[in-house]
Amino acid sequence: MGVVDMFSLVGKKAFVTGGAQGIGKSAALAFAEAGADVAIVDLDMGKAEAAVVELRSRGVRSLAVKCDVTNPADVDAMIARVVDEFGTIDIAFNNAGICINENAETMSFESWKKVIDINLTGIFLTARAAGRVMIGKRRGAIINTASMSGHIVNQPQPQCAYNASKAGVIMLTKSLAVEWAPYGVRVNCISPGYIGTAMTLKAAQWIPSWEAATPQKRMGKPEELTSALVYLASDSAGFTTGTDLVIDGAFTCV
Ligand code: NAD
Repeated sequence: MGVVDMFSLVGKKAFVTGGAQGIGKSAALAFAEAGADVAIVDLDMGKAEAAVVELRSRGVRSLAVKCDVTNPADVDAMIARVVDEFGTIDIAFNNAGICINENAETMSFESWKKVIDINLTGIFLTARAAGRVMIGKRRGAIINTASMSGHIVNQPQPQCAYNASKAGVIMLTKSLAVEWAPYGVRVNCISPGYIGTAMTLKAAQWIPSWEAATPQKRMGKPEELTSALVYLASDSAGFTTGTDLVIDGAFTCV
Protein backbone atom coordinates (compact mmCIF):
# COMPACT_ATOMS: atom_id res chain seq x y z
CA MET A 1 0.00 0.00 0.00
CA GLY A 2 1.34 3.46 -0.95
CA VAL A 3 1.92 6.10 1.68
CA VAL A 4 -1.06 8.23 0.59
CA ASP A 5 -3.39 5.22 0.68
CA MET A 6 -2.24 4.53 4.24
CA PHE A 7 -3.91 7.79 5.28
CA SER A 8 -7.25 6.76 3.78
CA LEU A 9 -10.27 6.66 6.10
CA VAL A 10 -12.56 5.10 3.48
CA GLY A 11 -15.21 2.97 5.17
CA LYS A 12 -14.39 4.27 8.67
CA LYS A 13 -17.06 5.56 11.04
CA ALA A 14 -16.17 8.58 13.14
CA PHE A 15 -17.68 10.96 15.65
CA VAL A 16 -16.39 14.36 16.73
CA THR A 17 -17.44 15.99 19.99
CA GLY A 18 -17.52 19.77 19.82
CA GLY A 19 -17.89 19.14 16.09
CA ALA A 20 -20.27 22.02 15.40
CA GLN A 21 -17.54 24.64 15.01
CA GLY A 22 -13.85 25.45 15.35
CA ILE A 23 -11.28 22.67 15.58
CA GLY A 24 -13.94 19.96 15.74
CA LYS A 25 -15.71 21.06 12.58
CA SER A 26 -12.44 21.31 10.64
CA ALA A 27 -11.55 17.81 11.80
CA ALA A 28 -14.97 16.48 10.76
CA LEU A 29 -14.55 17.92 7.26
CA ALA A 30 -11.06 16.43 7.00
CA PHE A 31 -12.11 12.96 8.23
CA ALA A 32 -14.91 13.09 5.65
CA GLU A 33 -12.55 14.19 2.88
CA ALA A 34 -10.35 11.20 3.74
CA GLY A 35 -13.39 8.94 3.30
CA ALA A 36 -15.07 8.55 6.70
CA ASP A 37 -18.71 8.86 7.67
CA VAL A 38 -18.84 11.47 10.44
CA ALA A 39 -21.28 12.20 13.28
CA ILE A 40 -21.27 15.73 14.66
CA VAL A 41 -21.73 15.63 18.44
CA ASP A 42 -22.41 18.90 20.23
CA LEU A 43 -24.67 20.86 22.54
CA ASP A 44 -25.35 23.49 19.89
CA MET A 45 -27.75 21.75 17.55
CA GLY A 46 -28.17 24.75 15.24
CA LYS A 47 -24.49 24.75 14.34
CA ALA A 48 -24.25 20.94 14.43
CA GLU A 49 -27.10 20.61 11.89
CA ALA A 50 -25.45 23.26 9.69
CA ALA A 51 -22.20 21.25 9.73
CA VAL A 52 -24.15 18.12 8.77
CA VAL A 53 -25.76 19.96 5.85
CA GLU A 54 -22.27 20.99 4.69
CA LEU A 55 -20.98 17.42 4.97
CA ARG A 56 -23.97 15.95 3.16
CA SER A 57 -23.58 18.51 0.35
CA ARG A 58 -20.17 16.90 -0.21
CA GLY A 59 -21.75 13.45 -0.44
CA VAL A 60 -20.76 12.41 3.09
CA ARG A 61 -22.97 10.26 5.34
CA SER A 62 -23.44 12.33 8.48
CA LEU A 63 -25.74 13.01 11.39
CA ALA A 64 -25.95 15.48 14.26
CA VAL A 65 -26.31 14.14 17.81
CA LYS A 66 -27.12 16.37 20.75
CA CYS A 67 -25.02 15.37 23.73
CA ASP A 68 -23.63 16.98 26.86
CA VAL A 69 -20.29 15.22 27.27
CA THR A 70 -20.45 15.66 31.05
CA ASN A 71 -23.57 13.51 31.29
CA PRO A 72 -22.84 9.74 31.25
CA ALA A 73 -26.39 8.83 30.13
CA ASP A 74 -26.20 11.37 27.29
CA VAL A 75 -22.83 10.00 26.21
CA ASP A 76 -24.01 6.38 26.24
CA ALA A 77 -27.13 7.35 24.25
CA MET A 78 -24.95 9.25 21.75
CA ILE A 79 -22.73 6.19 21.22
CA ALA A 80 -25.81 3.97 20.77
CA ARG A 81 -27.24 6.42 18.22
CA VAL A 82 -23.99 6.55 16.21
CA VAL A 83 -23.65 2.75 16.24
CA ASP A 84 -27.29 2.44 15.24
CA GLU A 85 -26.73 4.80 12.28
CA PHE A 86 -23.24 3.74 11.15
CA GLY A 87 -23.04 0.13 12.42
CA THR A 88 -19.86 0.72 14.44
CA ILE A 89 -17.30 3.33 15.55
CA ASP A 90 -13.71 3.33 14.28
CA ILE A 91 -12.62 6.88 15.15
CA ALA A 92 -13.52 8.94 18.23
CA PHE A 93 -12.33 12.54 18.32
CA ASN A 94 -13.04 13.71 21.87
CA ASN A 95 -12.60 17.43 21.43
CA ALA A 96 -15.37 19.42 23.19
CA GLY A 97 -13.89 21.91 25.62
CA ILE A 98 -14.27 25.31 27.22
CA CYS A 99 -12.03 27.85 28.91
CA ILE A 100 -12.96 30.12 31.83
CA ASN A 101 -10.57 32.92 32.76
CA GLU A 102 -10.79 33.63 36.48
CA ASN A 103 -8.10 34.29 39.05
CA ALA A 104 -7.53 31.20 41.20
CA GLU A 105 -8.14 32.99 44.48
CA THR A 106 -11.57 34.24 43.41
CA MET A 107 -12.59 31.45 41.06
CA SER A 108 -15.98 30.00 41.97
CA PHE A 109 -16.37 26.30 42.71
CA GLU A 110 -18.91 26.18 39.84
CA SER A 111 -16.39 27.55 37.32
CA TRP A 112 -13.70 25.10 38.46
CA LYS A 113 -16.11 22.17 38.27
CA LYS A 114 -17.53 23.16 34.89
CA VAL A 115 -14.10 23.29 33.23
CA ILE A 116 -12.95 20.00 34.76
CA ASP A 117 -16.28 18.32 33.98
CA ILE A 118 -16.30 19.26 30.29
CA ASN A 119 -12.57 19.17 29.49
CA LEU A 120 -11.45 16.13 31.53
CA THR A 121 -14.44 14.11 32.74
CA GLY A 122 -16.14 14.61 29.36
CA ILE A 123 -13.16 13.10 27.59
CA PHE A 124 -13.10 10.17 30.01
CA LEU A 125 -16.82 9.51 29.46
CA THR A 126 -16.71 9.67 25.65
CA ALA A 127 -13.46 7.67 25.50
CA ARG A 128 -14.91 5.06 27.86
CA ALA A 129 -18.08 4.65 25.82
CA ALA A 130 -16.26 4.56 22.46
CA GLY A 131 -13.58 2.31 23.94
CA ARG A 132 -16.18 -0.30 24.87
CA VAL A 133 -17.26 -0.55 21.22
CA MET A 134 -13.66 -0.64 19.99
CA ILE A 135 -12.47 -3.18 22.57
CA GLY A 136 -15.33 -5.42 21.45
CA LYS A 137 -13.97 -5.49 17.91
CA ARG A 138 -10.26 -5.26 18.84
CA ARG A 139 -9.70 -2.13 16.75
CA GLY A 140 -10.14 1.63 16.94
CA ALA A 141 -8.51 5.04 17.13
CA ILE A 142 -9.29 7.54 19.87
CA ILE A 143 -7.92 11.08 19.68
CA ASN A 144 -8.36 13.55 22.52
CA THR A 145 -7.88 17.30 22.38
CA ALA A 146 -5.46 18.38 25.07
CA SER A 147 -3.57 21.68 24.67
CA MET A 148 -0.17 23.25 25.07
CA SER A 149 -1.81 24.51 28.27
CA GLY A 150 -1.24 20.99 29.59
CA HIS A 151 2.49 21.71 29.31
CA ILE A 152 2.93 25.41 30.07
CA VAL A 153 1.08 28.13 31.99
CA ASN A 154 -0.48 30.64 29.59
CA GLN A 155 -0.06 34.35 30.17
CA PRO A 156 -1.43 36.94 30.71
CA GLN A 157 -4.83 35.31 31.19
CA PRO A 158 -5.55 33.34 34.37
CA GLN A 159 -6.89 29.83 33.64
CA CYS A 160 -5.72 27.36 36.27
CA ALA A 161 -8.68 24.99 35.82
CA TYR A 162 -8.16 24.85 32.06
CA ASN A 163 -4.43 24.18 32.39
CA ALA A 164 -5.02 21.47 35.00
CA SER A 165 -7.77 19.85 32.90
CA LYS A 166 -5.51 19.69 29.83
CA ALA A 167 -2.58 18.22 31.79
CA GLY A 168 -5.12 15.63 32.96
CA VAL A 169 -6.14 14.88 29.36
CA ILE A 170 -2.52 14.13 28.43
CA MET A 171 -2.11 11.64 31.32
CA LEU A 172 -5.57 10.15 30.74
CA THR A 173 -4.57 9.60 27.10
CA LYS A 174 -1.38 7.77 28.11
CA SER A 175 -3.24 5.69 30.68
CA LEU A 176 -5.91 4.56 28.21
CA ALA A 177 -3.26 3.86 25.56
CA VAL A 178 -1.49 1.46 27.90
CA GLU A 179 -4.68 -0.19 29.19
CA TRP A 180 -6.18 -0.69 25.74
CA ALA A 181 -3.08 -1.52 23.69
CA PRO A 182 -3.73 -5.25 24.14
CA TYR A 183 -7.15 -4.75 22.51
CA GLY A 184 -5.84 -2.99 19.38
CA VAL A 185 -7.29 0.35 20.47
CA ARG A 186 -4.93 3.30 19.99
CA VAL A 187 -5.32 6.46 22.10
CA ASN A 188 -3.47 9.68 21.29
CA CYS A 189 -3.94 13.40 21.89
CA ILE A 190 -3.06 16.66 20.24
CA SER A 191 -1.80 19.73 22.07
CA PRO A 192 -2.51 22.77 19.93
CA GLY A 193 -1.05 26.19 20.59
CA TYR A 194 -3.20 29.27 20.02
CA ILE A 195 -5.64 28.53 17.20
CA GLY A 196 -8.05 31.09 15.76
CA THR A 197 -11.51 29.88 16.82
CA ALA A 198 -14.44 31.34 18.76
CA MET A 199 -12.63 30.33 21.98
CA THR A 200 -9.64 32.58 21.29
CA LEU A 201 -10.98 35.23 18.91
CA LYS A 202 -13.43 36.48 21.56
CA ALA A 203 -10.42 37.43 23.72
CA ALA A 204 -9.15 40.08 21.28
CA GLN A 205 -7.27 42.00 24.00
CA TRP A 206 -4.81 39.12 24.53
CA ILE A 207 -4.17 38.14 20.91
CA PRO A 208 -1.21 40.51 20.29
CA SER A 209 0.67 39.13 23.30
CA TRP A 210 -0.11 35.52 22.30
CA GLU A 211 1.22 36.16 18.80
CA ALA A 212 4.31 37.91 20.14
CA ALA A 213 5.07 34.93 22.42
CA THR A 214 4.75 32.42 19.55
CA PRO A 215 8.01 31.98 17.58
CA GLN A 216 5.99 31.89 14.33
CA LYS A 217 4.46 35.26 15.43
CA ARG A 218 0.91 34.20 14.61
CA MET A 219 -1.96 31.99 15.75
CA GLY A 220 -2.60 28.72 13.93
CA LYS A 221 -5.68 27.88 11.90
CA PRO A 222 -7.94 24.91 12.66
CA GLU A 223 -7.06 23.48 9.23
CA GLU A 224 -3.41 23.31 10.30
CA LEU A 225 -4.33 20.53 12.75
CA THR A 226 -6.33 18.37 10.38
CA SER A 227 -3.59 16.43 8.58
CA ALA A 228 -2.19 15.37 11.97
CA LEU A 229 -5.67 14.27 13.06
CA VAL A 230 -6.21 12.25 9.86
CA TYR A 231 -2.82 10.62 10.45
CA LEU A 232 -3.65 9.66 14.05
CA ALA A 233 -7.06 8.33 12.94
CA SER A 234 -5.64 6.27 10.09
CA ASP A 235 -3.99 2.86 9.89
CA SER A 236 -0.71 4.61 9.03
CA ALA A 237 -0.47 5.39 12.76
CA GLY A 238 -0.63 1.70 13.67
CA PHE A 239 2.36 1.86 16.07
CA THR A 240 1.47 5.33 17.37
CA THR A 241 -0.33 5.23 20.67
CA GLY A 242 0.01 7.15 23.92
CA THR A 243 1.48 10.08 21.99
CA ASP A 244 0.77 13.77 22.56
CA LEU A 245 1.33 15.70 19.34
CA VAL A 246 2.21 19.34 20.13
CA ILE A 247 1.26 21.67 17.25
CA ASP A 248 1.99 25.17 18.46
CA GLY A 249 4.26 27.18 16.13
CA ALA A 250 7.09 26.37 18.60
CA PHE A 251 5.38 28.16 21.53
CA THR A 252 6.43 25.52 24.07
CA CYS A 253 10.06 25.51 22.86
CA VAL A 254 10.91 28.84 24.45
P1 NAD B 1 -14.96 26.31 20.17
O1 NAD B 1 -15.51 27.06 21.32
O2 NAD B 1 -14.99 26.93 18.81
O3 NAD B 1 -15.68 24.88 20.05
C1 NAD B 1 -16.01 24.10 21.17
C2 NAD B 1 -17.24 23.28 20.86
O4 NAD B 1 -17.49 22.43 21.99
C3 NAD B 1 -18.50 24.11 20.62
O5 NAD B 1 -19.16 23.69 19.45
C4 NAD B 1 -19.34 23.83 21.87
O6 NAD B 1 -20.74 23.91 21.64
C5 NAD B 1 -18.90 22.41 22.23
N1 NAD B 1 -19.17 22.08 23.63
C6 NAD B 1 -18.90 22.85 24.73
N2 NAD B 1 -19.34 22.22 25.84
C7 NAD B 1 -19.88 21.04 25.45
C8 NAD B 1 -20.48 19.96 26.13
N3 NAD B 1 -20.64 19.98 27.48
N4 NAD B 1 -20.93 18.91 25.42
C9 NAD B 1 -20.78 18.88 24.07
N5 NAD B 1 -20.22 19.88 23.36
C10 NAD B 1 -19.78 20.94 24.05
O7 NAD B 1 -13.46 25.98 20.58
P2 NAD B 1 -12.24 25.27 19.82
O8 NAD B 1 -11.12 26.22 19.87
O9 NAD B 1 -12.65 24.66 18.54
O10 NAD B 1 -11.92 24.14 20.91
C11 NAD B 1 -11.97 22.76 20.64
C12 NAD B 1 -11.02 22.07 21.60
O11 NAD B 1 -9.70 22.51 21.33
C13 NAD B 1 -11.27 22.37 23.08
O12 NAD B 1 -11.06 21.19 23.84
C14 NAD B 1 -10.20 23.39 23.40
O13 NAD B 1 -9.87 23.39 24.76
C15 NAD B 1 -9.08 22.88 22.55
N6 NAD B 1 -8.01 23.83 22.25
C16 NAD B 1 -8.28 25.01 21.64
C17 NAD B 1 -7.24 25.88 21.38
C18 NAD B 1 -7.46 27.20 20.70
O14 NAD B 1 -6.54 28.03 20.73
N7 NAD B 1 -8.62 27.45 20.10
C19 NAD B 1 -5.93 25.54 21.76
C20 NAD B 1 -5.69 24.32 22.37
C21 NAD B 1 -6.74 23.48 22.62
